[in-house]
Amino acid sequence: MALEIIESCVNCWACLPLCPSRAIHEARPPQFPHFLIDADKCTECVGDFADPQCVAICPIEGAIVDELGVAMNPPGSLTGIPPERWAAAQAEIAAR
Ligand code: SF4
Ligand code: SF4
Repeated sequence: MALEIIESCVNCWACLPLCPSRAIHEARPPQFPHFLIDADKCTECVGDFADPQCVAICPIEGAIVDELGVAMNPPGSLTGIPPERWAAAQAEIAAR
């Protein structure tokens, strides 16, 4: 039971001090270009908080995923922009 930080992490440092398990490690480029979660230490905050604290503070959609690789903050959850509208805008920009 552990979450994972993936490459879309922007190394903002917001999550690191909030982890009750000291499971989050800072980025150390080039070996570790983004923050990481130690799977052996992450408890998903069970017993400490109602919600995973890293997920609650992370400003980047999709940067933290569960064990199945599912985004904890899925597309549109933080920006309020529906994914299909975002895709349409990207397609429009690409077509210019
Ligand atoms: S879910 Fe909780 S314990 Fe796991 S890395 Fe995030 S803040 Fe730490
Ligand atoms: S809060 Fe999100 S973007 Fe910031 S360091 Fe943590 S995982 Fe990366």
